[in-house]
Amino acid sequence: MDFTRRGVMLVLASPSGAGKSSISRALFEDDPNIALSVSVTTRARRTDEIEGKHYHFIDVPEFERMRAAGELLESAEVHGNFYGTPRSRVEERLGNGRDILFDIDFQGTLQLYEKCRADMVTIFILPPSIKELRKRLDRRAQDSEGTIEKRLRNARLEMDHYREYDYVLVNEDLEDSTSRVRTILASARLARSRFNELDDFVRDLQEQIDAL
Ligand code: 5GP
Repeated sequence: MDFTRRGVMLVLASPSGAGKSSISRALFEDDPNIALSVSVTTRARRTDEIEGKHYHFIDVPEFERMRAAGELLESAEVHGNFYGTPRSRVEERLGNGRDILFDIDFQGTLQLYEKCRADMVTIFILPPSIKELRKRLDRRAQDSEGTIEKRLRNARLEMDHYREYDYVLVNEDLEDSTSRVRTILASARLARSRFNELDDFVRDLQEQIDAL
């Protein structure tokens, strides 16, 4: 039986450098039904980032305008910059049964829990070791040494929140972690809360019994 379903809000959270972006990229490559929720940010664009693909880069007054106008589903300050999720695209995709991946921090996740828990499945990704985390941050070399230190300190704080997530993955191997995320997503797609037509379907079955 094919019912139409609501989309899944898949939240991937992790300290920077734990491998979240690589997992998301791998997921998008072979699954056309999931797309990234492109956040707005007031952070400066890195050289390898594309406006509209990785983020919408905006200034602080525009961020404040959007937040005041209720255009952001959630928002937070991370590493001294503002980030937020534009509301309109999320609602449209979910209604059409398309899934969305959110790369947001714990503050944003908690705000989304308040508003749309039934639509969400959340995964916290941990690095296998701090040595590995540091290596990934150094390799990225996008940020100055000061920023890397700040991100490591922030990683420590972020890790306090792992219990707030439905699943926790230790990302030792990219392929293995991606496959686990695919499994979680496949199961979330089948959850009862996704299927609005079930009430009618069950009522109809019951009426058929009553009519016997
Ligand atoms: P980065 O500057 O490295 O791209 O992201 C820094 C942190 O901000 C990451 O932990 C990322 O998950 C988080 N982040 C990115 N976009 C959003 C957003 O729209 N909302 C929230 N709450 N966090 C975000």
